[in-house]
Amino acid sequence: MTKTTILGAAESGIGAALLAQQLGHQVFVSDFSKIKEAYKAELEKNNLSYEEGQHTEKRILESDEVVKSPGIPDTAPIVQALEAKGIPVISEIEFASRHTNAKIIAITGSNGKTTTTNLTYQLLKTGGLNVGMAGNVGISFARSIYEQDHYDYYVLELSSFQLDGIEKFRPHIAVLLNITPDHLDRYDYEMSNYARSKFRIAMNQTFDDLLILNYDLGVNYEDFDISGEDLDRLEARRSFVRMDFPDKGKIKVNDVAFDLSNSTLRGPHNQFNATCAVQIAKELGITDTDIQKGLNTFKNDPHRLESVAKVNGVEYINDSKATNVDSTFYALKAMLQPTVLIMGGTDKGNDYTPLIELVEEKVKALICLGVDNEKLIEFFSPIIKNIEEASGAMEAVQRASVYAEEGDVVLLSPACASFDLFENYKDRGEKFKAAVEFISS
Ligand code: ADP
Repeated sequence: MTKTTILGAAESGIGAALLAQQLGHQVFVSDFSKIKEAYKAELEKNNLSYEEGQHTEKRILESDEVVKSPGIPDTAPIVQALEAKGIPVISEIEFASRHTNAKIIAITGSNGKTTTTNLTYQLLKTGGLNVGMAGNVGISFARSIYEQDHYDYYVLELSSFQLDGIEKFRPHIAVLLNITPDHLDRYDYEMSNYARSKFRIAMNQTFDDLLILNYDLGVNYEDFDISGEDLDRLEARRSFVRMDFPDKGKIKVNDVAFDLSNSTLRGPHNQFNATCAVQIAKELGITDTDIQKGLNTFKNDPHRLESVAKVNGVEYINDSKATNVDSTFYALKAMLQPTVLIMGGTDKGNDYTPLIELVEEKVKALICLGVDNEKLIEFFSPIIKNIEEASGAMEAVQRASVYAEEGDVVLLSPACASFDLFENYKDRGEKFKAAVEFISS
């Protein structure tokens, strides 16, 4: 009987454990932290053997194969011990992909994964395909297969951590949206390591497969410390998508124009995401009429340039998911009115230089929402007069509302992680929305 150990007991780990058990493996789940109650209940209900608060090395080193959750770095002692013993350590994505015949569309990048995954799913569904969605959105890929979802296609949102643990995973269509500095702590602070990890999405693709690639990555790859040889090794057909769009709210794919003005997708970054999604849909034979229908009815997930309410003629926009500088850059690019910007939080070694021009052009006041706002204040005080601090969402919204006049926008787009003041980006976004609701009542 194959002995499979799962490291990490959250969504992907539990999915992998259930699938492995269904396949008849002898399964052991091990989590170094405390396991969330809901997942523990699932382990108990399914009679899965598990431990928490430790990794019992002796038992884990008896495994035939180990499925590692994306949150566990390769430097973790247990992973090092497994590698030293030559025991294969794979990701849940690799494990799950062995057990489906569905065609896979895989989407990665530093920003825009969720939006592009959701939109692609919507377009394929509108076109009548039998399609599922998994990965970082919704349920894990392994859980979906365990639940016997008989899809012909899967749209998967993948992080670089998930790609690090693949061996044979081969998407029929892969999308690499962009690469901007993020998570570098897991890549020895080397951009090239992070970039290579993202490019793994295409490493098993063949001439039958398609790689949709940001034009910048394909052409200026040296800026990302990737060599021409790295790219030459890839076999897939390539399609490059550029980031410049002549018309607001419109895109063109193979000379056919599509209109985004009925969707919630605004800004050039969303024109880019939409172009990638439409290319996928066209590759899979969806008609232009169905594609436009899908675009018209698309609603993105909350916290991504989400219009919350208009109060006294001021639009409040929640972009709490903007946890790095690049996403805030594009949020500002999408703003058409004078903007009061709420920014700040846990700084991940950010360089705010790319924002200078847009801040000068559009931002009338900056509200710093973080425990330690020193860096932001020091950086932006030479270019912006109105800077204030806030230590909670309510205070931030109240201070912003003082500066915002009719026709302006108040934009929460923090460029930072949320963990100093909030549980996570969702909590930050929800508290922002509640504060907006409060001042509007
Ligand atoms: P991810 O799943 O990669 O985090 P999301 O679709 O959730 O991406 O968007 C995260 C943040 O990045 C949001 O603030 C959004 O406005 C911004 N964003 C979305 N697409 C892009 C893109 N192509 N380039 C830069 N920023 C983007």
